[in-house]
Amino acid sequence: MSSEDSCFICAGRDAAVARSDDGLAVVVPFRSPMFEDHVVVAPSAHVDTADVDPATWAAVGSLIPDVVGQRTSAGAERCYLLAIGDSDKGHLHFHVVPRSEADPALGPFVFGPDGWNKARGAR
Ligand SMILES: [Zn+2]
Repeated sequence: MSSEDSCFICAGRDAAVARSDDGLAVVVPFRSPMFEDHVVVAPSAHVDTADVDPATWAAVGSLIPDVVGQRTSAGAERCYLLAIGDSDKGHLHFHVVPRSEADPALGPFVFGPDGWNKARGAR
């Protein structure tokens, strides 16, 4: 099994909710969302951070402001952005997590011992 075969982004690519105009980047719903509308912006191709070409960086960057704008227009007060490129089998991705004042605090760690689980448990 290759890392692409077990990658949640590659597996969710066909269910993308948005794509860059050139098709180099996608927005996919996160498999285990912390909050409603938590999505991941990523290159369409399975690629590690060190191997991303400039056109793909631009495509990913072109999607993030739109994704954040959609969430703040829908009521989020802000969005957390978290880039990960060395886990999940090496597929670079940016989490876009909508946040509002009423949401539970995530603590000192977004994905650490309390942050991720506390937010998920509060739903
Ligand atoms: Zn992948």
